[in-house]
Amino acid sequence: MAGIYVHIPFCKQACHYCNFHFSTSVRYKAAMLESIAQELVNRKTYLQGQTIGSIYFGGGTPSLLSPNEVEQLLQVIQKNYTLAEDLEITLEANPDDLTTSYLQAIRQTPINRFSIGVQSFFENDLQFMNRAHNAQEAQRCIQLAQDQGFDNLTIDLIYGSPTTSHEQWSINLAIAFELNVPHLSCYALTVEPKTALDYQIKKGIAPTLSEDHAATQFEILLAQIAKNNYEQYEISNFCRGGFYAKHNTNYWTGVHYLGVGPSAHSFNGHSRQWNVANNAKYTAAITKQDSYFEIEELSPTNQHNEYIMTALRTKWGVQKSKIVHWDTQQKEAFDKKATQYQQQGYMLLQNEAYILTPKGKLIADNITADFFI
Ligand code: SF4
Repeated sequence: MAGIYVHIPFCKQACHYCNFHFSTSVRYKAAMLESIAQELVNRKTYLQGQTIGSIYFGGGTPSLLSPNEVEQLLQVIQKNYTLAEDLEITLEANPDDLTTSYLQAIRQTPINRFSIGVQSFFENDLQFMNRAHNAQEAQRCIQLAQDQGFDNLTIDLIYGSPTTSHEQWSINLAIAFELNVPHLSCYALTVEPKTALDYQIKKGIAPTLSEDHAATQFEILLAQIAKNNYEQYEISNFCRGGFYAKHNTNYWTGVHYLGVGPSAHSFNGHSRQWNVANNAKYTAAITKQDSYFEIEELSPTNQHNEYIMTALRTKWGVQKSKIVHWDTQQKEAFDKKATQYQQQGYMLLQNEAYILTPKGKLIADNITADFFI
C-alpha cells in the first residue's frame, strides 16, 4: 500500500527554529488549494494504481484549513485513487486551532488522526520557540480532541532547548503520559541555517544549544518511556497500545508515496522528486502546466544509504537480505563493522536483522554514517 502527503504551506507565525516551507500570509489560500487539487488529479498515475493506506496533511499548519476545505481535498483523492478500508488520515494541527467547534466539524470529515504540535507544556519554552499557542492551550487541546472521540493522536515534543530544565522535560513527558496520549514524536531542538534561532545565536541574543544537555534529556526520555509502557519503534517515535503511525512508518520502510503541494517530496521506488518550495511559483506552474519539480533517479549507492539511514532507526532494523553488496571487499567491510558494533554492545543481530541496542540508539547517527557507501 502507498501513501499520499499533502503539504499545506501556511502558518500563523514563524517558529524560531523552523526551516519548513510555509508562508504567514493566507491571502492566496484558495488558489493554493485549487492547485493542490489539480496536482492530485494530474499525478494520479504516479503510484501506478497502488491502494492508498495513509493520507497525511502536513505543513505548515493544516489546521488553518476549514473542515470544508479539508473535505474537498479528500473528495478529490477519493475520486482519483483507490483507498484502503482501514485508511489512516492524519491532520497536523496546532493547539490554538483545536477549539471544540473546529473539532466537532472535523469529526464529520474522514480525518481519523491528529498530529498536534505541542512542543512543550511550559510557557517559557513556547515563547522561546515563538510558538503561536500557550501552555494552557497545549494541554487543553488534547483533552478536547479526546472528548470528541479522537483517540488516535500523536503529539510532538521538543527537548534540548536551553529553556528546558531536565525537571521540566520530565514534567512534559509526565503530562503526556497522564493525558493518555498513545503516540509521541520527540525531537531534539536543532539550529537550522537561516532560521531566526540561527540568527539569534550568532548575534548572542539566544544561548547556544548544548549537545550534552540534549543527550541527557534523550536519556531521560528513554527511561521514562520504558517505565510507562511505550515502545520506541523509531529513534524519535514512541507508542503504546499498537498506535504506530502508519504514514511515517511507510517512509522508514520504503513504501511509495506521492507528495503534493509546494516543497512536497515523492518516492516511487527508483526516484525521488520534490516540488518547488515557493507558493507563487508552484501555483503559477500548475496553472500554466509548466514544470514545478526536480527529480533524482536513485543509484544503487543512494538506495543502499537510504535504506541504512531509515531502517537502522527502527525497531525492525536492517534486514541482512536487503543489503546489496557489489563485491567481496565491500561485503567484508560491512560485516567487519557490524561485528565490531555487536562486540561493543551497540548492535544486535536478531532474526537476520541488525538492530540498535539502547546504547547504540544514543549514537545512531554516527553508526548510520559508518555504514554508508
Ligand atoms: S507551526 Fe510548524 S511549520 Fe509552522 S513555523 Fe511552526 S514549526 Fe514551522
